[in-house]
Amino acid sequence: MLTRSDAAARCARIVVVGSSNTDMVVRVPSLPRPGETVLGGTFFTARGGKGANQAVAAARAGGAVTLIACLGDDTLGDATLAALAAEGIDLRGVQRTAGTPSGVALILVDERGENSIAVAPGANALLAPEQVRLRAGLLSPGDVCLAQLETPLESVLTAAKVASRAGARFVLNPAPARDMPDELLALVSVLTPNEAEAVRLAGVPVGDEHGLENAGAVLLQRGAGAVVITLGAGGAFVATKEFRESIPGFRMEARDTTGAGDVFNGALAVALAEHASLADAVRFANAAAAISVTRDGAQPAAPRRAEILQLLAGNPIRLEMPNHAASPSSSAEHAERDA
Ligand code: ADP
Repeated sequence: MLTRSDAAARCARIVVVGSSNTDMVVRVPSLPRPGETVLGGTFFTARGGKGANQAVAAARAGGAVTLIACLGDDTLGDATLAALAAEGIDLRGVQRTAGTPSGVALILVDERGENSIAVAPGANALLAPEQVRLRAGLLSPGDVCLAQLETPLESVLTAAKVASRAGARFVLNPAPARDMPDELLALVSVLTPNEAEAVRLAGVPVGDEHGLENAGAVLLQRGAGAVVITLGAGGAFVATKEFRESIPGFRMEARDTTGAGDVFNGALAVALAEHASLADAVRFANAAAAISVTRDGAQPAAPRRAEILQLLAGNPIRLEMPNHAASPSSSAEHAERDA
């Protein structure tokens, strides 16, 4: 079986449409009740937002990644842009919004690992369909457009339409779960809910193989081209009109599963853009996500391609170089400012 080197894989283009946040985390002995102040322990910030997390994961897994997102014209936005540029992500699709802050998540974590989170979407709520259309020309047949549900639904729908017109595949990670029109589902090439999201979207329990098959069938019936339900340490369940398959995950000593789904989606998009079969793409994504759970955080935990291929070494998958090349230079300077 063939595995591709890093250099060859650089041609696979992934356009991610989604959110970018700064997570501000304070560890506390116990979560404060209303009106209560608790003296916290350490404070740290981490870059987050499902769109940015998945873009970083895809870039590290070997994809040529363009991010379409909105950031405020503030210092958090500046720091985020610099960090994403350092990952080699093309940022010409990122707009800065004057007068609206960058997205922020305020997170309290207690000693037992319980958390309490408030998210101010800020600029993420301003991601407009027009911004997606402006970058539509980047997508070619065989490319992958990857979106989640932390930005306005109209933009996600526009991304799906643009991808479909370009002959690119549209991968939708329906997180956080919310109701979606069948018009959107019909444009989805691969839908990637976790178990809770699958229950919410399909309206059936997914506790066992039978439940997974039922949920997959409902979502295929609603229009998705393929369904990949992620199962934590259990790997993933794949359903298409032609086949159903459980693809086991990798056994790892889990340390922090934050962002495992984001790493899974970023890596899945890369393998699909490299013409892997869906089952092989899921194996690649399982390997990437498994490595990520052995490390802290979301973006910092995303593995590099060589690490993913090393974990897969005993069970290589088939990746092919796409027959077109597109690799615009990446730089924070390319981000458009919307004064
Ligand atoms: P989410 O993070 O969106 O809730 P999951 O918990 O289903 O999604 O995890 C996504 C993927 O991460 C899984 O399909 C699997 O590949 C990987 N993963 C998650 N937890 C573990 C674990 N404990 N050990 C190995 N792989 C894991």
